[in-house]
Amino acid sequence: MTGGNRGIGRAIAEAYVANGDRVAVTTRSGGAPTGTLDVRCDITDAEQVEAAFAQIEEAHGPVEVLVANAGITADTLLLRMSDDDWSSVIDTNLTGSFRLAKRASKGMLRLRRGRIVFISSVVGLLGSAGQVNYAASKSGLVGMARSIARELGSRSITANVVAPGFIETDMTGVLTDEQKAAIKAQVPLGRYGSVEDIAETVLWLTGPGATYVTGAVIPVDGGLGMGH
Ligand code: NDP
Repeated sequence: MTGGNRGIGRAIAEAYVANGDRVAVTTRSGGAPTGTLDVRCDITDAEQVEAAFAQIEEAHGPVEVLVANAGITADTLLLRMSDDDWSSVIDTNLTGSFRLAKRASKGMLRLRRGRIVFISSVVGLLGSAGQVNYAASKSGLVGMARSIARELGSRSITANVVAPGFIETDMTGVLTDEQKAAIKAQVPLGRYGSVEDIAETVLWLTGPGATYVTGAVIPVDGGLGMGH
């Protein structure tokens, strides 16, 4: 899985370790949780993605589950958004996930089974002022997952999307108290989600209970995005 040294990714990695799975965690800066294989990989670099898979396959064998979680934001209003703000977010969140899924599917096709989970966001389908780049990258994951689901379904490979709402992590830590209060007011459950809420859903999607679930978008957002 990608981006497992903090936030949502760390909780997902820890949940897999607790479940007794062999887990490889890729990040740019290291610091993967205890019990996982700590792999350095910038997902914007195709060569690093290839090298990371080679390292993981050598240590753990073929990758049966891919959780594409690593993501960034570069928020600003449309008129102020530079090409670099746009392309860095698309390159990490969308193209990075494409690179990972493409490489992972190679081994999964050989195995004739596999699970791919993309971590999207409630704003991918809801939209969000100041996040034109981020929302576009996250909704792009839905079309990608559904196309993979159709392309690889006959080989028992599933591709699904988890769409978290507002979760307490470093990413949302940068919001002002005013912004946080405004968001909470729109959430039917009246609170932020926890990283464990997302980890539980990802574990279920890649476990024995979800063998017949593919091409799905699973919201874990306290009801914020109802109607997706
Ligand atoms: P954090 O900012 O806490 O963590 C992001 C992770 O991604 C880090 O582990 C980081 O590691 C890794 N990462 C970032 N860029 C790259 C890169 N180019 N190559 C490899 N790894 C990279 O984010 P969250 O835990 O909050 O979010 C995780 C995912 O969930 C993201 O995709 C985010 O968009 C999504 N999400 C989050 C929500 C929230 O409320 N927090 C809501 C909805 C969706 P390092 O810097 O070491 O590379």
